[in-house]
Amino acid sequence: MSSLLDTVAEPVWIVRVDAARADVRVITIDNPPVNALSFALSDELLAAVEAAERDASVRAVVFTGAGGIFSGGADVNDFMTEPTEGTVTIRDVVARVERGTKTYVAAIDGNALGGGFELALACDYRIATARSKVGLPEIKLGLIPGAGGTQRLPRAIGAQDALQMMLKGESIKAADAQAKGMLDEVAQSDVLAAAQALLTRVLPTEPKRRISERRAQLGVANLGLFATPFVVAQAHKMVPPEENGGFAAHKLIDAVQAAIELPFARGVAREARLFGELVRSAPSLALRHVFFGERELTKIPDLPPAQPLEIKTAAVIGAGTMGTGIAITFAQAGIPVVVIDPSDAAVEKARATIFGMFKYQVDKGRLTQQEAWKLANSITFEDDFAALADADVVVEAVFESMDVKKEVFAKIDAAAKPAALLASNTSTLDIDEIAAATNHPERVLGLHFFAPANIMKLLEIVRGKATSAQSLVTGVALAKKLHKIGVVSGNAFGFIGNRMLFAYEREAIELAEEGVAPERIDAVMKSRFGFAMGPLAVADLSGLDVYRHIERAAGEQLGRIPIVARLVDEGRLGQKSGAGFFRYDKAVGKGREPIPDPHVDELIAQLAREADIASRGDIGDDEIIARLTGALSQTGADLVRTGIALRPGDVDLVWIYGYGFPPHRGGPMWYGEHA
Ligand code: NAD
Repeated sequence: MSSLLDTVAEPVWIVRVDAARADVRVITIDNPPVNALSFALSDELLAAVEAAERDASVRAVVFTGAGGIFSGGADVNDFMTEPTEGTVTIRDVVARVERGTKTYVAAIDGNALGGGFELALACDYRIATARSKVGLPEIKLGLIPGAGGTQRLPRAIGAQDALQMMLKGESIKAADAQAKGMLDEVAQSDVLAAAQALLTRVLPTEPKRRISERRAQLGVANLGLFATPFVVAQAHKMVPPEENGGFAAHKLIDAVQAAIELPFARGVAREARLFGELVRSAPSLALRHVFFGERELTKIPDLPPAQPLEIKTAAVIGAGTMGTGIAITFAQAGIPVVVIDPSDAAVEKARATIFGMFKYQVDKGRLTQQEAWKLANSITFEDDFAALADADVVVEAVFESMDVKKEVFAKIDAAAKPAALLASNTSTLDIDEIAAATNHPERVLGLHFFAPANIMKLLEIVRGKATSAQSLVTGVALAKKLHKIGVVSGNAFGFIGNRMLFAYEREAIELAEEGVAPERIDAVMKSRFGFAMGPLAVADLSGLDVYRHIERAAGEQLGRIPIVARLVDEGRLGQKSGAGFFRYDKAVGKGREPIPDPHVDELIAQLAREADIASRGDIGDDEIIARLTGALSQTGADLVRTGIALRPGDVDLVWIYGYGFPPHRGGPMWYGEHA
C-alpha cells in the first residue's frame, strides 16, 4: 500500500490529506464516481486516521469528500467477497474514530449515504451544505447498516424515528436532518470553512461529543416499563414476514432494540452479527443481483459506438390512458411535451387527469403550488401534427391497430424534424412493419411504457431490424432521463414482459383445470410468494377482452386459453365489467376485491372434462409456485436464447419493475436458478 502522501500517477482511489490549519487535518475521500468506501479505500482511510492520531500537533480531523459527494457508502462489489483476515473495512475506520482522542468533524457536501453517513455519525460534529442528503439505505439491498449506524442513529434522533428512516432507506435533506438532530449545522457556503469556524468555537469548550455516549430514547410517549417490548413487538408486526420480503427488516428491528437495551459496544457487536447473517442471506443476494442488473442495462453487446441525441422537447400522439401518463412522465423529467389528439373529449379528459395528478402531489406536500403549475403547463395540447415539428422525440400512443399506426407514422415522419427519434408505445404490433410506413426506419423504435406510465418504472425499448445504434442508445439514455428502468428487447410478439405474462397466465389456468381453485392460486402467489396480485386477478384487471384480442393477434405464437374466450362470450371482461375469473362488487373493496365465483369453477371443470384433463387433489402450494415461476423462467430462457432479451438479468428487471415480481426473490431467472 502506498503511503498517503505519495503522489500516485493515476489513482483509482485516494485519500487526500491536507493540513488546513496547523492543528486541523483534512482527510478527503476521493474515489470517483461516488467515493465508495471500498476495502482498499478504507485501508487508506484508516492509515490517515492513525497518522493523525499519532501526530501530537493535530487536535482535530475533518472528513470531507471530493467531487460534490461525501460518500455513496460501501462498495457493493465488496459484499460479494468474504473479507479475509487483515482486510480493512469501513467498520474498522469507524471503530478507530470512536476510540480516537482527536475531535472529528464530518464536513458533508453532497450525499452521505450508508457507510459514508455511518462515518459521519461516528464523528463528534457533522456539518452539511444545504443541498446535501444523508441516509442509511442498506435495507434496499436486504442489509442493515453494519458500521454502527443502527446503534448511533437511535441515540442521535430517537429509536422510533431512526427505525422508520432505516426501514424506508430514505435520504433526508440537510435542513430536515438538522431539525431531527442528525446534523449540527447546515453550512451556507463552503463546508470546509464552516468546519474550521465550528472547530474554533468548540475546541476550547467541548472538543469531544460522541453519539455513542448518549442513551437511545424510544422517541414515543411514555409507556412505562413495557414501552420497549411493546414498540418492538408492534414494529415486528408492521413489516412483511421474514420469509417473504421482511428478512432484513426484522433484523433491523432487532438491532435497534439492541441500541435501546444494550451498552453501546455490545450493541455494535450485535449489529455486526446480524449484518453477517444478512450479507449471506438469499434475499440480500437476490437484491444485489437486481442492483447489479440495473447497472448492466446500458451495456448493449456488439453495438457500434454511437452518441445519444439530446432530448430537450417531446411530442406524444394520442391523449388516451397511455399518452396522458407518458406526457406526465416527460413533464416530471423537465422535458416540455406537446400532446396531439384530434378528439376534444380525449383532450379534456387528459387535462383533468393531469391537473388532478399534480394537485394530488401538492396535497401530499411533494410539490409546491408553483412547481405543480409549472409542470402542468409544460404539457400542451394540439390537434395538428405540425405541432410536433420541434420535438426531439415523438412517442405514438394511439389505438392498437396497425392501419391506424401506419397512417399516424406516415404523418409523424412528414412533420418531424430530420433527426427526431420516432417511437411507438405498441404492446403487440410489429415495430418493423410500423417503421416501414416511414422513410426513416432507422429512427424508429418501440418505447413500451406500462400503465400507469407515470408510475410504473419499466420501459421496454424495442429494437427493430432497421433501428440505428444512435436511435437505440438515445432510447436507453432517454429511459434514464425519465427515471425508468429501460430494458432493450428484440421485436418479438409481446416483447419480453407480455410474452412471459401469457405463459404465466396459461400455467395458472392449467392449474385451475387440474382442480386448484382460482382463489387459492392467487392467494399462494400473493401471500406466500409475494406478488402484489395473483395471476388471475391480474388477468381480470387487464381485461379478458384484451387477452382474447392478443391471443387472436398472436396467431399460433402464444397458444390458446379456451376459458378466456368462454368468459368473454359471457360478457365477463374482468374487473371493468364486474366479473371475470372472479366477481367484483362495488360494495366490496370499491369493486376491486376479487370474490370467488362457483360458476367459474364449474366452467373450468367442464372445460377440463372436455379436454380430458384429470383433476388432482394433491397439488400443494410448492407445486403452484414451482409451476408458475417455472413457466416464467422457461419462457425467459427462450427469450435469452433467441436473443430477444440480452441477459437473464434483463428478464428479471422486466418482471420486477413491470409485473410486481417480488424483488427479494431476484426475478424469475434468478429465482429459477437459486430457489
Ligand atoms: P386509448 O384508447 O386510451 O387512447 C388512444 C388515444 O389515441 C385516444 O385518445 C384517441 O383519440 C387517440 N387517437 C386515435 N387515433 C389518433 C390519431 N390518428 N391521431 C392522434 N390521436 C389519435 O388507448 P391506450 O390504452 O392509451 O393505448 C394506446 C397505445 O398504448 C396502444 O398501442 C396500446 O396497445 C399501448 N399500451 C397500452 C397499455 C395499457 O395498459 N392501456 C399499456 C402499454 C401499451
